[in-house]
Amino acid sequence: MLMCCNDSFSPTEEDMMAIDDTCVEADEDDFSTDLVGFRRSMRLCRRRSHSAAHPSCPPRCPNSCCSALGSPYEEVVRYQRHPQDAHRLITLLGPSGVGVNELRRRLIEINPKIFQGAVPHTSRAPREYEESGREYHFISREIFDNMIQNNRFLEYGEYKGSLYGTSVESVREVLNSGKICVMDIEPNAVPAVRTHELKAYIIYVKPPPHERLKETRRGAHITTNYYVNRPFKDEDFQEIEESARKIESQFCQFFDHVIVNDELQDSCVQMLTAVRKAQDEPQWVPASWIRPTST
Ligand code: 5GP
Repeated sequence: MLMCCNDSFSPTEEDMMAIDDTCVEADEDDFSTDLVGFRRSMRLCRRRSHSAAHPSCPPRCPNSCCSALGSPYEEVVRYQRHPQDAHRLITLLGPSGVGVNELRRRLIEINPKIFQGAVPHTSRAPREYEESGREYHFISREIFDNMIQNNRFLEYGEYKGSLYGTSVESVREVLNSGKICVMDIEPNAVPAVRTHELKAYIIYVKPPPHERLKETRRGAHITTNYYVNRPFKDEDFQEIEESARKIESQFCQFFDHVIVNDELQDSCVQMLTAVRKAQDEPQWVPASWIRPTST
């Protein structure tokens, strides 16, 4: 996983006040009819054909996105979260290096009483200052493997010989506490978070046009699985753009909102607006989230 770090600015009170309606809405063409109290709609996926479900999905995956991956249409309904219901899971998706991790970090930093990340699990040993249940849930590889077998992870990966992953229980814990859980995901985690329970709201973080990408990251550093905190290179920009193209071509129909991460501070403001809308305003969601099918 790559992370974009640029500490040259942080959101001010003024920016928070300036939250407005300038967000870029994800494109969608839809037609709809009112039916039995629901506004039903078929959202037209903009990727016209996609025959294979995601490799991580079982053949009869109950998550709505698997069927949506195989079909250009997905039945959606208008859904508004009841104030007493758990918050929707906020997921940030984007190419490594675009700033997803930094945006998530800043969102939590802005108001830790409202926003929280889920505590991940890892099979690596704790460092001296780390406490189980705070930075990570430290577990053995055997238990980790067992949790994988039992589909308890929304996503997981290996880094320097240790396993890392975020479990659905960790997310549930945050949601049950009344907070808004914010998570960054890789594209392969999309099916796992698009569920009746989590009702993930997917924010796609898009790189700005090439020249702006270079300009805005000039003083920033990139952290990857191989390099820690080194300046961005031209290859990094190409990789970000290539990865963005792939994500957009395969997953754009699942984006609830798109933020072009040009100036980080503007992106934070846009993200706060989007998150508020996701929780408090009606949104299109898969019909199966409202009337889960028995599978
Ligand atoms: P560290 O061992 O230094 O705390 O983290 C090492 C790497 O694990 C970092 O690149 C971090 O992004 C990644 N990591 C931390 N938590 C998770 C997680 O929940 N899932 C995945 N896939 N990677 C994680």
